[in-house]
Amino acid sequence: MKKAIIIGSGIGGLASALRMRHKGYEVEVIEQNGYPGGKLTELRADGYRWDAGPSLFTMPHLVTELIELFGRDVNEYFSYNRQEEVCRYWWEDGMTFTVDADPSTFINDAASTFSIDPSRLHQYLKDSRFKYDHTSPLFLERSLHKASTYLSKDTLKALVNVGRMDLSKSLHDYNLQMLEEPHLVQLFDRYATYNGSSPYQTPGIMSMIPHLEMDIGTYFPEGGMHSITQALYNLAVDVGIAFRWNHAVDQIIIENRKAKGVRIKNEILKADVVISNMDIHPTYNKLLSDVSPPRNTLTQERSSSALIFYWGVKGIHEHFGLHNILFSGQYRSEFESLFDRYEIGDDPTVYINITSKIESVDAPPGNENWFVMINAPGDYGQRWDELILQARAKIIDKIERLTGRPLSEHIVTERVLDPRSIASKTSSHQGALYGSSSNDRMAAFLRHPNFHRRIPNLFFCGGSVHPGGGIPLCLLSGKIVSELAPTP
Ligand code: FAD
Repeated sequence: MKKAIIIGSGIGGLASALRMRHKGYEVEVIEQNGYPGGKLTELRADGYRWDAGPSLFTMPHLVTELIELFGRDVNEYFSYNRQEEVCRYWWEDGMTFTVDADPSTFINDAASTFSIDPSRLHQYLKDSRFKYDHTSPLFLERSLHKASTYLSKDTLKALVNVGRMDLSKSLHDYNLQMLEEPHLVQLFDRYATYNGSSPYQTPGIMSMIPHLEMDIGTYFPEGGMHSITQALYNLAVDVGIAFRWNHAVDQIIIENRKAKGVRIKNEILKADVVISNMDIHPTYNKLLSDVSPPRNTLTQERSSSALIFYWGVKGIHEHFGLHNILFSGQYRSEFESLFDRYEIGDDPTVYINITSKIESVDAPPGNENWFVMINAPGDYGQRWDELILQARAKIIDKIERLTGRPLSEHIVTERVLDPRSIASKTSSHQGALYGSSSNDRMAAFLRHPNFHRRIPNLFFCGGSVHPGGGIPLCLLSGKIVSELAPTP
């Protein structure tokens, strides 16, 4: 049997492993950590459980189709529920708003709360769907870097409609033109952060993201986000994929322009196909030091990182739901701080995710597990310990101010994740959450392809390469890789 080695068991690595197994390969996953999932993992302490990384789950069919691929019963591996509420929003001027999962209810609620003509929101969501439908088969589901992609009917459709994709203006300018009302503009600007970018720089085509959340819906896996990793890992074991834990690959061995396998310390593992799920920067800088690196790709601006406080909090806080956003009063300056000065803004937007609202076992009775995150710049050697203390004080102050309720004395336990630890735990260059940012109109084309142009049996998956970061896109990268790989 031909053998595929996957470097890394992030969500893209697991998806690639499953698809390569289905294609007929013997598959071995080499993981430097002692657990699967990379960023999609969990944290347990003092009776609390937190999802350590992703908290928002869209497009669940990309998970279930992997289970169905092997003819297995999805319910044996994975269960999830559609959420009735998308997110609760809070502003500095006292305004609050909850986005209902039913698009018509959302539109009616928003129209009356923000005194806006509902037809504007109808049009916005209609355009969002149009952009998604016309670009996803081309930009997300196939390699952008193969000539054959450009010969398809879908490409022609996308090209004919390129004028409706709002590529020439920023997402913020697009939102301003479509919605005008400042709270709603900020609410829709926030979607830029779903790929770690700035709404003032990322192009208007990113206005397709609300379609995923507001039309297709948001979901929550039973057992928490970590169940996604667990389901795919359990399936992988059941279908005969081998895992080697606590082993970091040191080199991808290249001979005569072919990947021959990998080296772990002094051990050589041979393979017919090698797939790296490691961030593309260290893949070139550490594992492929003899191969000339693609400078255009590696000099792309990185996406934002994050600073996360995992808090055990006394009491049940009814004013918060599963997803909550407390907006910055200086949104533009928040992104200028992140991308121009590599600093945390003076008034960062605070995101609070509380899974114990749904999974009561995630916190001791009468308590909640708060995942409190702000956008942070990548790690450029800033004085993080100082910044973390300052940010903590600002976050607590903001939550207390906007909710009018005390918080600091209710925090009974705490863990912290910062750009340095994101980088060290997952080898993500500078701790970026989503690989490169989408602040450039050409960003999608400058991401690394899922294949190597001169080494035909070397492939790449995960959030730092095409089609991008976030669970759905990482799952799609595994699909694209398996379609590009030779049939064994
Ligand atoms: P990664 O998770 O980056 O994992 C790579 C794996 O490779 C790791 O396990 C690492 O240990 C291993 N590895 C690296 N080098 C080696 C080596 N040399 N040898 C062996 N193994 C190696 N996405 C969403 O969809 N929704 C969200 O709400 C969301 N929120 C996020 C919040 C946070 C705090 C973070 C950190 C991320 C968030 N994301 C979110 C992004 C999402 O988590 C990532 O895009 C995705 O999980 C990345 O998967 P990946 O396949 O690129 O692998």
